Amino acid sequence: ATGEPPEPLHRVEANNYDPDNPNSNRINATLLSLVRNEELSGILQSMHDLERTWNHKFNYPWMFFNDVPFTEEFKKATSAATKAKVYYHEIPKEHWEVPSWINHDLFVESANILQEQDVQYAHMLSYHQMCRWNSGLFYKHPALAEYRYYWRVEPKVHFFCDVDYDVFRYMEDHNKTYGFTINLYDSPQSISTLWPETMKFIAGHKGHLAENNAIEWLKDKDRRPDHNFKANGYSTCHFWSNFEIADMNFWRSKAYEDYFDHLDRAGGFFYERWGDAPVHSIALGLFEDKSKVHWFRDIGYQHIPFFNCPNSGKCKGCVTGRFTDGEAWLNKEDCRPNWFKYVGMD
Ligand code: GDP
Ligand code: MN
Repeated sequence: ATGEPPEPLHRVEANNYDPDNPNSNRINATLLSLVRNEELSGILQSMHDLERTWNHKFNYPWMFFNDVPFTEEFKKATSAATKAKVYYHEIPKEHWEVPSWINHDLFVESANILQEQDVQYAHMLSYHQMCRWNSGLFYKHPALAEYRYYWRVEPKVHFFCDVDYDVFRYMEDHNKTYGFTINLYDSPQSISTLWPETMKFIAGHKGHLAENNAIEWLKDKDRRPDHNFKANGYSTCHFWSNFEIADMNFWRSKAYEDYFDHLDRAGGFFYERWGDAPVHSIALGLFEDKSKVHWFRDIGYQHIPFFNCPNSGKCKGCVTGRFTDGEAWLNKEDCRPNWFKYVGMD
């Protein structure tokens, strides 16, 4: 556990990453962004950072997803921001619309209660739809059928450090399922019944538990015992999923499919505000070998208000070790030490 950046395999000079080369050294992977037309300037900012620090060397394609058609302006500007291939996809209606078993009046009533408890976006139906899509539907989009790995990119995020190896190939070569940069506690009120539902699911599907799982991490009580109590047994520590580099074979596995279906039927994407971050994190913690989750300490990243900023001469624009640009109390939201306590630093 040296904590050093991964060995720089597959350096640019030894490989051919020309955007149009069908036999390039790229593996089966894509950059993936769910985004709204109104967020054009924000996504351009994210693209510029990721192209400058990494993708101009590798030219992985960009795939944009939207619940409504992309405008010509959006397509033109994003295509001009990279020399890689760019694709635009609409989400099938049946993947986005609110499922038939969700009762609208109950959604509104529940949202009132969540709002009183200061849960953000409680009444914003599209936010709930987005969390559900990111949890269990994005990888079912026909355009992703042939793809295995993705790197999720949101508008208005920053990448600070030059990264000179093919991170997707790193995932494949090192048999990693999931890569993260930031680990945070969640608002327990947004997921009060997620852990109890998960326990119900496990009772009927013990065979899905991975041998070397991270359940002790999920149940950790040390740092925020109040969260364990309010989230009914879950520490709320999760991989912050606005950044994720992952292998879709995991989401496509029987274990995850069964789990997502169970959660979807339970209704918490709408009657509470279950996020894709805790859902993905709990699934990884239970159904995957914990050695297959990787901290990309070398990828300098910010999504307001949190940073991952390594100590390296390859980074520009972030302060080493800084965790938040907000108020000091936000430092308490960091739960990376909790993950390392159970899993180490690989
Ligand atoms: P936050 O980071 O939790 O505050 O949520 P965001 O507003 O950043 O949304 C998360 C991601 O989903 C971003 O990439 C948004 O662009 C995207 N997103 C959220 N809601 C919608 C929506 O209704 N339609 C589309 N197309 N994208 C959405
Ligand atoms: Mn965001």
